[in-house]
Amino acid sequence: MAAAVERVIVSSNPENSMSLQKALSAASPLTLRIVAECPVTKARACDLTLPHCTVNTPVFMPVGTQGTLKGITVDQLESLGCQICLGNTYHLGMRPGPDLIVKANGLHGFMNWKRNLLTDSGGFQMVSLVELSEVTEEGVNFKSPYDGKEILLSPEKSISIQNSLGSDIMMQLDDVVSSTVKGPRVEEAMHRSIRWLDRCIAANKNPDKQNLFAIIQGGLDAELRKACLKEMTQRDVSGFAIGGLSGGEEKNDFWRMVTLSTDHLPQEKPRYLMGVGYAVDLVVCVALGCDMFDCVFPTRTAVSVLRPVLKDKLKYIYIYLYIYIFLSCFYQRFGSALVPWGSLQVKQKQYAKDFLPIDPDCHCPTCKRHSRAYLHALFKSDTAAMHHVTVHNIAYQLSLMRSVRQSIVEGRFPEFIRAFMKRMFPSRDDYPGWAVDALASVNVTLD
Ligand SMILES: [Zn+2]
Repeated sequence: MAAAVERVIVSSNPENSMSLQKALSAASPLTLRIVAECPVTKARACDLTLPHCTVNTPVFMPVGTQGTLKGITVDQLESLGCQICLGNTYHLGMRPGPDLIVKANGLHGFMNWKRNLLTDSGGFQMVSLVELSEVTEEGVNFKSPYDGKEILLSPEKSISIQNSLGSDIMMQLDDVVSSTVKGPRVEEAMHRSIRWLDRCIAANKNPDKQNLFAIIQGGLDAELRKACLKEMTQRDVSGFAIGGLSGGEEKNDFWRMVTLSTDHLPQEKPRYLMGVGYAVDLVVCVALGCDMFDCVFPTRTAVSVLRPVLKDKLKYIYIYLYIYIFLSCFYQRFGSALVPWGSLQVKQKQYAKDFLPIDPDCHCPTCKRHSRAYLHALFKSDTAAMHHVTVHNIAYQLSLMRSVRQSIVEGRFPEFIRAFMKRMFPSRDDYPGWAVDALASVNVTLD
């Protein structure tokens, strides 16, 4: 079945007026307009129009729904200028369940979020439940962490849940293997992901309203990745995600797989690099040609493992361990404020009497109102400090991407990268080697 999607590319090519007309006449849930392309790197700035609003890319997509633990409201996300956020299919599909969400007019209605939503397939959470899950051709079998019942998450089931959620972008169910796994399992997962993509395309009941993205797999093997790219780009999907990375592999392998993927992905469709959120990674991967990013580290790693473990008394020791790791990740993450010169640990003593905001150049509600000293004091007694720092961190990510976009539009992205790196690292010797190599591969030499 064909997903009824037409795309518009408004670039230097004037012959696109026909595809523009075609697109206007079609009921299209996605159009991509390339606003500017960097003449030096592979970076581009696009207007990605989805059913709920236009998204200016490159874009960072924060997590906006259950399972986030971020304590940020949709109002705040909206006022920070967020145009698209992530919903968590696994958690929402389990609780409160798709039926209730359908009654609330989908996830948009349930959350009262008027902009775009991207939902994952639920597959990634299965990897977190690795002890309890088993992958077969049919799908992923696992025990519900809520009641211990056997559940099969098939490609059809994943799309059915995402159809109920009504997200603007749905992700295919893929066979996820850790990026550090090698050998035949990687090849098997890549081929299975292609077969599952076909089943997801066939299962989509709302191709005129909901976009489906394929996920390129193939681990760190260039030939497997190329084979996956060749197959998947022949499918009628609205966009492509680069999957199976950011899982602890060497950064040198990471960027080479990213750039290989963007080399083979079609220009006219959006490219989403999954699981990437550190500032340096974002800037480098924009230069390598990626448009969309997300990062949901704390939810992915710890939360979903807690409940099933409770079933086994012998594993009580692990419960404490998981809780400890989870809380320290949580605390660490929210105690750490992102700034153009790296990060600032508000909890540190040196900020106890510091009346500057986290970042004097930041325009977020936290920096407009509160000092480092106040936040430092708040951290001792109140979780509200985490909330304030989270608001700042999301504002930082969104504002970083806006600056990146602006520099691409104004034709000065390479200069932007040089200035960004200079500010982020105390000296040239501190630049990560992989970033230097990755940038050199797209003609940007750092001074
Ligand atoms: Zn701020």
